[in-house]
Amino acid sequence: MSFNVAVDGPAGAGKSTIARAAAKRLHLIYVDTGAMYRAMGLFVLQSGIDPEDTEAVAELCGRADISIRYQGGEQVVLLNGENVNDQLRTGEVSGVSSVISTVPQVRAKMVSLQKKLAAQCDCIMDGRDIGTCVLPDAQLKVYLTADSGVRAKRRFDELTQKGQDCSLEQIRKDMEERDYRDMHREISPLRQAPDAVLLDTSHMTPEEATERLTDLCREKMG
Ligand code: C5P
Repeated sequence: MSFNVAVDGPAGAGKSTIARAAAKRLHLIYVDTGAMYRAMGLFVLQSGIDPEDTEAVAELCGRADISIRYQGGEQVVLLNGENVNDQLRTGEVSGVSSVISTVPQVRAKMVSLQKKLAAQCDCIMDGRDIGTCVLPDAQLKVYLTADSGVRAKRRFDELTQKGQDCSLEQIRKDMEERDYRDMHREISPLRQAPDAVLLDTSHMTPEEATERLTDLCREKMG
């Protein structure tokens, strides 16, 4: 049986940075499930259909070939055979991915892919519904969060470092809207699983948070 760690939490809490770093230390595979929903969001944008048109999104999802592979330890997302990693982390893709992730057919496809992956390898998987839906039997579940102002500032710093022009206020507004949608959707809303450890990183450096997650994993790995 593989060793699985589920990390869930709202946008910008530092899930990917911390989960990726802890996985590297522990020689586990890191699976970023948000990137899969983002790839589907990108496909919707490329196709020009309305992200709110549930039927059209479901139909497009049936034709989407989304898979992930690992290159030099990094996750690469393939959309219809093309590496789309560089196109996934824009504000536009963030918004659309959260809208289309409410569609049942989209969730079913992604969850099935994620379950298969986790059965095949020892991994830390991050997302919104990993502890509650994808890996209910994970050996460790962590709910990673931080104050919304802190999360918005982190995302702002990440985007400006990449040279993207953005406003802190707009990021905060978009993030709060996305969190609201993720927490209130009908299927698998973002919730802390009853058996998840709460890790609030508002006053932690990424190194401190990574250390804490690594320790929690080590305790379970024995
Ligand atoms: O984690 P990230 O911010 O990249 O995720 C983008 C969007 O994908 C989230 O806002 C959420 O709507 C959706 N998502 C999801 N379930 C997951 C991971 C992401 O619904 N397991």
